Amino acid sequence: NLSERFDRAFKVLKGQGQITEINVAETLKEVRRALLDADVNFKTAKEFTTKVKDKAIGRNVLTTVSPSQLLTKICHEELVELMGGEHEDINFKGNPGIILMSGLQGSGKTTFSGKLANWLKNKQRKNPLLVACDVYRPAAIDQLHVLGEQLGVEVFSNREEKDPVKIAQAAITYAKSNGFNVVIVDTAGRLAIDEKMMDEIAAVKQAINPTETLFVVDAMTGQDAVNTAKAFNDKINFDGVILTKLDGDTRGGAALTIKTVVDKPIKFVGTGEKMDALDIFYPSRMADRILGMGDVVSLVEKAQEQFDEKEAKKLQKKIAQNKFDLDDFYQQLQQIKKMGNVKDLMGMIPGMGKAMKDVDIDDDAFKGIEAIIQSMTPAERGEPSLINGSRKKRIANGSGNKIEEVNKLLKQFNETKKMMHLMSNKKNMMSMMKQMK
Ligand code: GDP
Ligand code: MG
Repeated sequence: NLSERFDRAFKVLKGQGQITEINVAETLKEVRRALLDADVNFKTAKEFTTKVKDKAIGRNVLTTVSPSQLLTKICHEELVELMGGEHEDINFKGNPGIILMSGLQGSGKTTFSGKLANWLKNKQRKNPLLVACDVYRPAAIDQLHVLGEQLGVEVFSNREEKDPVKIAQAAITYAKSNGFNVVIVDTAGRLAIDEKMMDEIAAVKQAINPTETLFVVDAMTGQDAVNTAKAFNDKINFDGVILTKLDGDTRGGAALTIKTVVDKPIKFVGTGEKMDALDIFYPSRMADRILGMGDVVSLVEKAQEQFDEKEAKKLQKKIAQNKFDLDDFYQQLQQIKKMGNVKDLMGMIPGMGKAMKDVDIDDDAFKGIEAIIQSMTPAERGEPSLINGSRKKRIANGSGNKIEEVNKLLKQFNETKKMMHLMSNKKNMMSMMKQMK
């Protein structure tokens, strides 16, 4: 797969002290081949490696990191850039917010409609209404009803009506008078791009004026995905892309090319058939995935700006000896807060991206954690295993939290400690990364 190929490409540079035109060219030739094999189109791959090369040569003198680290970092930056840089949200705000699905049959529209309804309901506290506008296949209506039932989300359908425009309009009227604040319109697709399908989806879009039109595409279709995206975008000018079936070993090439071709951001990725197999798309995490590692280099760099060298060394030693305690944890939180966007930082730590996936972190989230740690005695902070049931109760009361919150924090701390210890050993880190793939 692509990450292994990148790995191999970078091996060329391992052990070499300096970046030269020659060793970079050799490595980047491998990188380019890997990209092409992962369905990235030729032009994109070529531009990519050219940019990386220019950057690498230019930055060579300024840095002390090893060439392979530097090149990894630059590749990472460029991959992020290629995928649009920042994450972009879907717009579901409105009265109601209206989200329209488009895409070929089998791309995963109905499945994603369900996932999105689930996400809106549980993560955004919205009250979504699913709308079945696939008028050609009765089974498609059933499929949506089954999902709706499973998720506890109402499904609007009308088996007598054959005009998707009318169904969608009726659904919106229904949503307005029944307190639904997001309407998700699932539509029909065909196996290949055709005029009638395009006209139909365009008509629906025109009639209901969605707050967000999404194009759903199967990542496994590789270069075809890119062509389909272009055809749909030319016709309906969608707002964002949903990349489905990005589970397991799927090549991520389409993700790299789509943004360049249609200039629309990928917003979510589907990673399985189950209703919770949905990830918010972060270019930086996708780049991690493609490079097969967390962005260790930039983490180190960012950290160096903030950390007192000596403190860092002391901490490293503690981590290596597995003596990292809650005081250190607390200090780390302060440092992390100083560094800015917490979620992005967490995403850079191998393994963390995954562990933190369901946790919505913002600076406020730290307040609870800080209060809990502050309610502990120094002895407890130094030796968290001391914290038994009655101590937990005291800490919970003292910090104005529930015992579950204290438990959660201790669990997080233990996991962090374990991971940091593992990461302090290079061999462990490699095996951890392998597990993550
Ligand atoms: P639609 O025709 O566009 O509505 O596509 P469906 O939602 O019916 O999905 C087609 C098939 O792809 C179904 O068997 C889904 O279970 C499957 N599917 C959809 N999304 C994903 C995904 O992210 N991963 C995997 N593995 N399968 C998916
Ligand atoms: Mg469907």
